[in-house]
Amino acid sequence: MDAAKYIWMNGEFKPWHDAQTHVLSHTLHYGNGVIEGTKAYKTKDGYAIFRLNDHTTRLKESAKMTLMDIPYTVEEMNEAQLELLRRNEFTGDNVYIRPFAFLGYGIMGVYHKNAPVETVMAAWEWGAYLGEEGLKSGIKLKIASMTRPANTSNMGKAKATANYLNSQMAKYEAIDCGYDEALLLDDQGYVAEASGASFFMVKNGQIITPPNDNSLVSITQKTVIEIAQDMGYEVIHRRISREEVYIADEAFLTGTAAEITPVRIVDARTIGKGSRGEITEKIQSTYFDIVFGRNEKYKHYLTYI
Ligand code: PMP
Repeated sequence: MDAAKYIWMNGEFKPWHDAQTHVLSHTLHYGNGVIEGTKAYKTKDGYAIFRLNDHTTRLKESAKMTLMDIPYTVEEMNEAQLELLRRNEFTGDNVYIRPFAFLGYGIMGVYHKNAPVETVMAAWEWGAYLGEEGLKSGIKLKIASMTRPANTSNMGKAKATANYLNSQMAKYEAIDCGYDEALLLDDQGYVAEASGASFFMVKNGQIITPPNDNSLVSITQKTVIEIAQDMGYEVIHRRISREEVYIADEAFLTGTAAEITPVRIVDARTIGKGSRGEITEKIQSTYFDIVFGRNEKYKHYLTYI
């Protein structure tokens, strides 16, 4: 990864390599931590963070779900992220921001109430998550052999580090089999989400995306629904089965890091023409206009640093 200059840790800016923790930190052993993935783009008026308040609010809510008390308000964490971008003096087109909270050193054993909560905001320049070529030509998606854990035994709506063991296993399997990304079904066999992004498909002009029954409540998914409806498309939030994915006219993934990534193959079936679909392309170009500050109507989603 590309190191930056500073990381905000527990209220202070530290040089990148000095933001450290003890090897006996609680989260390293028992996996309770919460993360965000937020992105800033270089607009003609400088860097602007996309939907900053929504991301920071989700971090606070994830922490509430996993019983961690982050000792900073959403406003304080928003300000820390803005100042982080100013101090790091980035130059690239976009910057990925990783706010997170974890349990630090001092307590062992599963019961975590007395473990100290450490709060961190880091940022660095990061290229396209699923590759530049993926954004243009589409990626190959494999339905993972593992499903998302059932709602009776996990909290998929928390952006909790523990949930990413499931994502990691699925992603590793997909890449090992020659694909680019994994699509996970829920425990009932319906599409849940990709390992780090949400799923959309197009059939007969309708745009369909799964409800968030067993997935993160994605900020990009909400944005894409709004964009598509504004363009006059009908967007349906409903369960999707595996077979429907195979015969979709178009498919794409959405996420802060994945942005709008077309899907060209799922499990050896070619989707549509096997390239970026027409509706996908329209949504993708509108999304980039929005995040780069070129669309007045959505300017309220940008916080300039
Ligand atoms: N699902 C998972 C599992 C993710 O990790 C992400 C990325 N944060 C998403 C969906 C997309 O969420 P968002 O649009 O809020 O980035």
